Amino acid sequence: MKLGDITINPTKIICLGRNYIEHAKEMKSKIPKEPLFFVKTLNTLITEGNPIIYPKMLYNSQEYNQVDHEVELAFIISNVCKNIQTEQAYEYIRGYTIFLDITARKMQISDRNINLPWYRSKNFDTFGPIGPHVAPCAEIKDPHHLSIDLKINGEVRQQSNTENMIFKIPEILSFLSKFITFAPDDIVATGTPSGVGPIQPGDLIEASIEKIGKITHKVVLED
Ligand code: MG
Repeated sequence: MKLGDITINPTKIICLGRNYIEHAKEMKSKIPKEPLFFVKTLNTLITEGNPIIYPKMLYNSQEYNQVDHEVELAFIISNVCKNIQTEQAYEYIRGYTIFLDITARKMQISDRNINLPWYRSKNFDTFGPIGPHVAPCAEIKDPHHLSIDLKINGEVRQQSNTENMIFKIPEILSFLSKFITFAPDDIVATGTPSGVGPIQPGDLIEASIEKIGKITHKVVLED
């Protein structure tokens, strides 16, 4: 897929959960002692110009009719890596981009409450908008001092700064690479700040991160 003027071919998307204290609190979840991660599948990825499809099976369900936005800073892996140290982490990062971890919230909470994984609530088609481009590391010397926000129909819903991340990027990559061999272009999303909430068909979502840019996606109901 094209992100600005580069093409990326990721093999996987790894996402951090509860990596901002205020978000963990709003979800009534414990603050994790080590990075908490889950996987999003590649069918979720969409780029600028493509809508987020609100699944009919969620829209028509009394039990599951809530889909939430989550704006996140993501980094893109540059080289194969496994078992790396925190001091080496930036050597394996190609750059940074914006990722939306769209989530079927009622389904996630319902599954969580009976100790099922988050898998299905996170992996509907189009639930992973990404872009608009990959800002190279040379342009972002410190990824932990970037303002991050999300608006719906022009109204601010999430507004924070990446300095509020609990686990910082070197620690995240070192930790994840104990479990996973990363390949070039793999995507790691670093968790969302507080202010998550529902989206509706017809909404226009604008998500921005300082020094990276902005992505804009319409939400449409599945045919
Ligand atoms: Mg998330």
